[in-house]
Amino acid sequence: MILVLEPGLTQDQMDALKARLRDLGQEPRTERTGGVECLVVAGEGDAAQRASLKALEGVREVLSSLDGYWLASRRCRAEDTAVRAGRWSVGGPAFVLAAGPCAVENREQMEACAAAVKAAGGSILRGGSFKPRTSPYAFQGLGKEGLALHREAADRHGLAMMSEVLDREDLPLVAEFADILQVGSRNMQNFPLLKALGRQGKPVLLKRGLAATREEFLLAAEYVLKEGNPNVILCERGIRSFDPSLRNSLDLASVVLLKSMTHLPILVDPSHATGERSLVRPLARAAAAVGADGVLVEIHPAPREALSDGPQALLPEELRGLAEDLAAIGAVAGKTFGSPA
Ligand code: PEP
Ligand code: MN
Repeated sequence: MILVLEPGLTQDQMDALKARLRDLGQEPRTERTGGVECLVVAGEGDAAQRASLKALEGVREVLSSLDGYWLASRRCRAEDTAVRAGRWSVGGPAFVLAAGPCAVENREQMEACAAAVKAAGGSILRGGSFKPRTSPYAFQGLGKEGLALHREAADRHGLAMMSEVLDREDLPLVAEFADILQVGSRNMQNFPLLKALGRQGKPVLLKRGLAATREEFLLAAEYVLKEGNPNVILCERGIRSFDPSLRNSLDLASVVLLKSMTHLPILVDPSHATGERSLVRPLARAAAAVGADGVLVEIHPAPREALSDGPQALLPEELRGLAEDLAAIGAVAGKTFGSPA
């Protein structure tokens, strides 16, 4: 059983609680996992035992380690988690605009995108240098050269850098450059990769798998948390549906539901969710309205020439209008917009 403690227990309170547990025949082990302080005791107990442990002073919740995603759960941590990336925060009072190209292609492209993100009040410059492509013949990304171009553009404009990690092998290289490590949809259940990301401290943006249930999504986040990295950001990016007229179907109900199930921040990616430029702005507005912590949007200075995902890319200058909408709707949903926090 896991006893989640009230935050800020004094040493005396902790000692008293441990002594009480020993009186009850339990030898407690202190753990700090995924940013949460708890005591672990043997066995899973029955309902009555759990209720009596919950009644002890200093214990906020008693969970079973069989409960699945307990570290990600609101039962473990009632307050929202804000994940810091450089001078920016995801999941705090500010609504986050993350934007950039699908793939990093060259210096001019990254400069145009970074300048537009900055001008629109955005905080994160996205872009892949290791691309998960359906076809092995499609552009696979520039690798290290792309990461360096990305870093340069992000730094020039004071933005945080977010880039995808495809494989455990690439993790040290991507982590050397990026502030936020993205796990793509196709990798949501790459458990060795999730564990490796949990053993380092950089924030992880975890995208929902193409056909993953909400529970599977949170269990994937749990893999990262369990290894000790509390900095997980979820991203709802559309799920496969029966209707082939759009790339995916944006599950906004999940944003609302996940907010009640987990304390982790949630971004929405309306670009991959639809695959269609004209739907990006309306769905970004909808995401802000249902209480997302931010959006992740693809832009490209010349979408027709983009090496990947051109049809869903907005022009960099279109970001400003989108940001104005987000500021207005965010204000209604209780978020500020555009300032570092
Ligand atoms: C991406 O964001 O570049 C990407 C490949 O998205 P997804 O994993 O959601 O398909
Ligand atoms: Mn893309």
